[in-house]
Amino acid sequence: MTDDPTELGHRIAQRFIVRGARPSVRDLTAQMGVEIVERPEPPPAEPGVRSEYQAEPPRITLYRNPIDSLAAAIHANQRFDMLACNLDDVHIAHELFHHLEFGRRFGPLRPEEVEAAAQGFAERLLGLAFHPDELAELEPEA
Ligand SMILES: [Zn+2]
Repeated sequence: MTDDPTELGHRIAQRFIVRGARPSVRDLTAQMGVEIVERPEPPPAEPGVRSEYQAEPPRITLYRNPIDSLAAAIHANQRFDMLACNLDDVHIAHELFHHLEFGRRFGPLRPEEVEAAAQGFAERLLGLAFHPDELAELEPEA
């Protein structure tokens, strides 16, 4: 390992931020030829999963009900720092990193390093005031 994976995610995100201007995550995703689809619930084998990426064809799936449950948990916990963010964009940005990384373009990374880099990418691309890992700590009651 040559780098902190969170820093790797930050560095990749920085490539898309031109003179401090952050791109629309949905525009960026469309420009990369990645489709965004929405389903109410994840497959039964993946309960609680809020989004995923598949490479062939390139597609990001958002699972509406778990994302909405997370939004409710943010409100219940009065995380005002999180209320301002677009949760769909957080999940799209995370999955977009998986698209960028597909084919091990940033060298061999362990699965947990890829996840940390994807979170760092989302954090920097969106200019979040919190680390995306904190969202998992708000996991609503099932
Ligand atoms: Zn991931």
